[in-house]
Amino acid sequence: MQATKKELIYEGKGKKMWSINESDDLLISEFKDSLTAFNGVKKAEESGKGALNCKISTLIFDLLKKHGIATALVETISPTEQLVKKCKIFPLEIIARNIATGSLTKRLGIKEGTKLPFTLVEFCYKDDELGDPILNDEHCLLLGAVKSQSELDELKKIARKINGILIKFFDERNLKLVDFKIELGRDKDGNILLADEISPDSCRFWDKQTDKKLDKDVFRQDLGSVKVAYEEVLRRILG
Ligand code: 5GP
Repeated sequence: MQATKKELIYEGKGKKMWSINESDDLLISEFKDSLTAFNGVKKAEESGKGALNCKISTLIFDLLKKHGIATALVETISPTEQLVKKCKIFPLEIIARNIATGSLTKRLGIKEGTKLPFTLVEFCYKDDELGDPILNDEHCLLLGAVKSQSELDELKKIARKINGILIKFFDERNLKLVDFKIELGRDKDGNILLADEISPDSCRFWDKQTDKKLDKDVFRQDLGSVKVAYEEVLRRILG
């Protein structure tokens, strides 16, 4: 579909969102080359990173669509731009974890690399000023981030379904899906859609044999070239 940018309506750390002339229900989501970590304290530009994430996220959303996950992605219209359905995003980072690392090891002292006995689903409040604090179910209700426990349970169910599909997909490509963050929203008809992106910026991938990190931890921990790591993820997705 032909889509021309009208107005910049939001600029985040990794993306710009544009309204378009052709429809009030659709937006253009533009992937940026910027990399940020530690709540924006560490910053860098990596030319080509936006295009890599746009490609990887498109492939993953297409896979999830085939497995019955409703997504906001309509069409990828350029190397860094997607046409997406407008939706009201739950103000939550929904995190699924299969292996302990990152903030989980710091918070609970679970040894890095421990395989969790079940997939842990967590919620963080999307609020940069507060540093995206972790929430329990009652916090989510208290803050009005969801309307009811059953709505929250639905978000958990979608996160677990996505995890099940992706863990198998990446396992077949010699990658461990360690953890990931997703964002969900409701469209104007009330459907819950997978929004934002799924990419090495929002997931952790480790090589199955060596545990080599192939995700944004390469940037967070200065482990080498981010682009080389993301290109490796793309290469394995394409098989
Ligand atoms: P952790 O809580 O261990 O820092 O992160 C858990 C997972 O969620 C990791 O895959 C991480 O990349 C992702 N994640 C957590 N917060 C954010 C965020 O603000 N933006 C993005 N893109 N991913 C996040």
